[in-house]
Amino acid sequence: MGVLLLGAHMSIAGGVSRALERGAAEGMNAIQLFTKSSRQWVGPPINPEDVARWNELRPRLGIQAVVSHAAYLINLASPKDDLWEKSLAAHRDELERAHAYGIPHVVLHPGSHTGSGEEAGMARVAEALNRLHQELPHCQDVRTLLELMAGQGSVVGYRLEQLAAMMEQVEDSSRVGVCLDTCHALAAGYDFRTEEGYAAFVQAVEATIGLDRVHCWHFNDSQHPLGSRKDRHTHIGQGQVGLEGFRHILNDPRWDGIPMLLETPKDKDGDGKDHANLRRLIELVADPRRIPPGMRDWLAEPS
Ligand SMILES: [Zn+2]
Ligand SMILES: [Zn+2]
Repeated sequence: MGVLLLGAHMSIAGGVSRALERGAAEGMNAIQLFTKSSRQWVGPPINPEDVARWNELRPRLGIQAVVSHAAYLINLASPKDDLWEKSLAAHRDELERAHAYGIPHVVLHPGSHTGSGEEAGMARVAEALNRLHQELPHCQDVRTLLELMAGQGSVVGYRLEQLAAMMEQVEDSSRVGVCLDTCHALAAGYDFRTEEGYAAFVQAVEATIGLDRVHCWHFNDSQHPLGSRKDRHTHIGQGQVGLEGFRHILNDPRWDGIPMLLETPKDKDGDGKDHANLRRLIELVADPRRIPPGMRDWLAEPS
């Protein structure tokens, strides 16, 4: 089994490349980031100086996996043409930015159908991706990861079958994959907290989308219970998932090479909470050789 790729969503305040430094300072070997403000539809022009700084820093800092998260505003499942076109332009910007920084994966919330129905919403998502893939042949190196959702409101993508159905409608299958979020999975009704439940969940992933289509895990505990379809992240071990759910995933060799990233609440000014959450995770790792090098001395510290 290989070394785990562990980290968290990191701030890009001061430049996208700053996220690399923030992650490395916390001992991480994987990070997630926004490539622009998450509240903007389309960001400012890509800063070539920051890209150069990124390319210089990344190999030195030992951040082996980087995933970007698309803006929350994007709704490619929308039946409204103006919102859909705006979302298409925004996701185009996300893919272009990821390409510029050499980031291979962009996590996307599939979106909400807002009344048109799940089938129609999912078809819109696939149509948008097909169009973007045609328009952006140079972004072949960037894959959109549809995130498994909790199922609030009229969102699509809260069942593995829905993720599979959307991917099936995407013509270039090499440009689409899946991100599994532990908080969302539990809220959506997947109970992976027991040994048997976890085995059944992985079997369901295999039967619907295929394990090789999973390129990212989001590690979040859930404030709301199993099947609540409410999306509220909390600290590892302090919610309804509990430590055992994470233990199964962390010690399963089938996820070798897949980044596992926290999206848990942060301190007001710092990443101190990330440290505590990551520490709780590495305490669950059975083979200490799989703990990322930057975190190996943590277990000697008093908790
Ligand atoms: Zn997300
Ligand atoms: Zn997530």
